Parts: sequence; C-alpha cells; structure tokens
Amino acid sequence: MAIHALVVDDDPVTRGLVAEQLMSLQATSVRTVESGRAALNMVREHPQINLMVTDLRMPDLDGIALIAALDKFRHRLRVIIMSALGDKIMQAASRIGVGHDLSVLGVLKKPVSRRMLSDMLAEFRHLPPIDSSLTRQESPAVNVDDIREALRQGGHHIVVQPEVRASDMTLEAVEVLSRWTHPNLEGRSPADVIVAAEQAGIIGELNQNLVDAVGKAWKNWAPHRLSPRLSLNISAVTMADTAFPEWLAARTAAHGISPQDVILELTETAVPATGTGNLEVACRLGLLGYELSVDDFGTGFANLKQLQDMPFRWLKIDQTFVRQIERSEDARSIVKSSIRMAHDLGLETVGEGVETASQFRTLRELGCDLLQGYLIAKPMRPEMLPSWYQNFRKQRSTIAA
Ligand code: C2E
Ligand code: CA
Ligand code: CA
Repeated sequence: MAIHALVVDDDPVTRGLVAEQLMSLQATSVRTVESGRAALNMVREHPQINLMVTDLRMPDLDGIALIAALDKFRHRLRVIIMSALGDKIMQAASRIGVGHDLSVLGVLKKPVSRRMLSDMLAEFRHLPPIDSSLTRQESPAVNVDDIREALRQGGHHIVVQPEVRASDMTLEAVEVLSRWTHPNLEGRSPADVIVAAEQAGIIGELNQNLVDAVGKAWKNWAPHRLSPRLSLNISAVTMADTAFPEWLAARTAAHGISPQDVILELTETAVPATGTGNLEVACRLGLLGYELSVDDFGTGFANLKQLQDMPFRWLKIDQTFVRQIERSEDARSIVKSSIRMAHDLGLETVGEGVETASQFRTLRELGCDLLQGYLIAKPMRPEMLPSWYQNFRKQRSTIAA
C-alpha cells in the first residue's frame, strides 16, 4: 500500500530526521509541518494522506487535540505518536486515539529509532485500508454552490437549543445552530456543511444570515418577555478575520441586540494561539462586551493557560464526557476537575448533551452551572421557544427526578 505520510513536530531537527527515515523506508510521499494547526490544514488539502507521525507536545495544538480535531472532521488515518514524555502519558495518548475512530499504530519514544519506525511501517502495510466508505473525502463532498444557493434563497435557517440554570431551571441562554432546507443539504450533518462553507470562504455570508435570523427571533420573543443570551458558534476562519468584531457589533446593534446578550462559542481549533492575529480578534470581541465560551472542552484543549490569557467567561464540557459520566470513572473525574478549574479561573460551566435525569443530577452535584441537551429540549425553531418554555416551567421540578 502506498504510504502518504505527514510528519508533525515543532522541532525542525526531529521533523527532518523522521521525514528522511520515512523516505528511506519507501514512503510514496512525505510532508512535514511545524504545528497541529498546520497539520489540520494539510490533511484537509491532501486527503490522500494516510499516515500521520506526530509529536505530542506542541505549542499551539498538541498531539491529543490534533487527533480529536481530525476525528471530529472524520478524517480517517493511522497515527504514530512520538514523544519524549514519560511512558504513562504516552500510553494515555494512545488510548485517546482508540477512543476516537482514528487508529493509533503505536507510540515511538524520542529520539525515534529507524528500526522501530520500520517495524511500524511494516505493520501499516499489512493492515487493511481504513474503511473508506466512512471517510469524509469518500462521501460525496458538500457542493459549495448548493450552500451559496441556500444562503441566497432562504434555504438556511436557525434552530435554538435552551441552556437552563441547574440550580433553578430558568432559561439562561440558547445555542443557535444552523439548519439547511436545500434538497442537497438537508440530510447532511451541519458540521460538514459548515466545514465546506469555511473552506469555500463563504462563512461570512453564513454569519450574516445567521445574525439576521437571530435578530428576527429576538424581536419575536420580546412580547413573551423572553430574552435569553444568544450563544453563537464561531469558526476558526471567522476568528482569523480582523474585521469581524466591528462587523458583529454593527450587525447586532442593528437588531437591538447588545454585546452582553451574546456569547461566542469557540472550539479548540478556533482558540487562538498566543501571539497570533486571532488573539487580537478575541481580545477586541471581549472589549466590545461579548462573552467568549470554550466549546467542546476536554477533547484535547491545547493548554489551560490560554484560558487565563483570554477573555473567556464560559466553558462548555464536551458531550462525550457527559455521555460517559455514569459509566466511566475517568469521565467523571475529568468533568469534576474541569468544573473546579473553570470556577477557580472565574468561568461558568455548561454541560452539553444531557440526555438522562441521572446525567443531569450528576452534573448538578459536580457544580455545573448550565445544562443543555435532549433531556431539556432538542434544538427547535425559534418561534417554538415561548410555548416550550411555558410548558417547561410547569414540569421543571420533575425533569431531574
Ligand atoms: P456543537 O457546537 O458541539 O453543537 C452541539 C451539537 O450537539 C448540535 O449538533 C446539537 O444538536 C447536538 N446536541 C445537543 N444536545 C444533544 C443531546 O442531548 N444529545 C445528542 N446526541 N446531541 C445533542 P448539530 O446541530 O448537528 O451541530 C453540529 C456542529 O456543527 C456543532 O457542534 C457546531 O460545531 C457546528 N455548527 C452548527 N451550526 C453552526 C453555525 O451556525 N456556525 C458554526 N460555525 N458552526 C455550527
Ligand atoms: Ca457549540
Ligand atoms: Ca460541543
């Protein structure tokens, strides 16, 4: 089998050395990048890459975060982890790969020996190709013209999902999510459509539609005395756009929405590395009064110090942990320490994907501030929110019973 390898390491010496070894071991192509973020872009641009050899500790996006991000975007490739860290961390890292759909071939201790690399490549060549029917590049690509058409002709709309305060069950915020009625987009996962829109450079148009739809919803809720915070998902591409803060301020103001009513959810890949242009965007958004939230926390956040450096007010615990909270002692302790750490840093927490009363109770006991999930409500058309809340208030005492 042809090997198309990608070497990811912030250390140029290791990068060069491993690339050379791979070439001498008959890899068909070898690419190298210096960071997790660059690796994500490289894999998107070159879907033929089927083997990634990555360092664990890197400044912007570490190896674990990289694996989680690749999994989220359904890139299937095999991974070799290299690290100078202790055995325990390395074993934990290889387990993380197993938890995802990516398969970790093995862990190489630095300095990487040619012999061990050669053994792993031999194993790689014997393995069947990863089920390609499941890979993103094999499933029909989302057609960008369909997205454009939907954006221009009313085929893009929003749904909102309530986030309620665990202590008293009041409605604190709603998360705004995109939905598509275009015939070619309807069955597609919203995340895939978003990624395609990002790649095609039309995420700005999408944001515009979204904010206008939110503005309309906000007006319609006012007579019902409903004014939940609006939690918007912001992609990495948007965070790289230095004109975004002023654009958002003008657009929300036009709808009578003040920045204090808006929370911006950033996933770990959109969380800026210190010293990049994105950091400036994040800080300006904070100065304008928007609150920032770390989305999908726990799937491999690069480093906790970033939380301190940035104007974050919220931390959203990823649903994979919530789902396992009763079954897995590990998941429970990750959630517990995430909540404690968030509170120490002055952040409030949101538990996402709450489907059962027992998950609800556990999160509440652990001190999680807001809860979101099918147990409380599925995402709904904005016009349904007032009647949903009326019903919910009547039966809220029984929700977690
Ligand atoms: P996310 O930000 O993590 O959003 C939460 C996802 O979990 C949503 O999926 C929501 O419908 C789902 N969810 C909520 N509660 C539950 C539950 O109890 N059980 C289960 N199984 N799922 C639950 P959705 O709507 O498919 O969105 C997927 C992802 O697409 C979002 O993940 C977000 O990253 C992205 N996305 C959606 N709309 C937008 C958008 O307008 N802009 C951007 N940038 N990203 C968006
Ligand atoms: Ca989100
Ligand atoms: Ca999430």
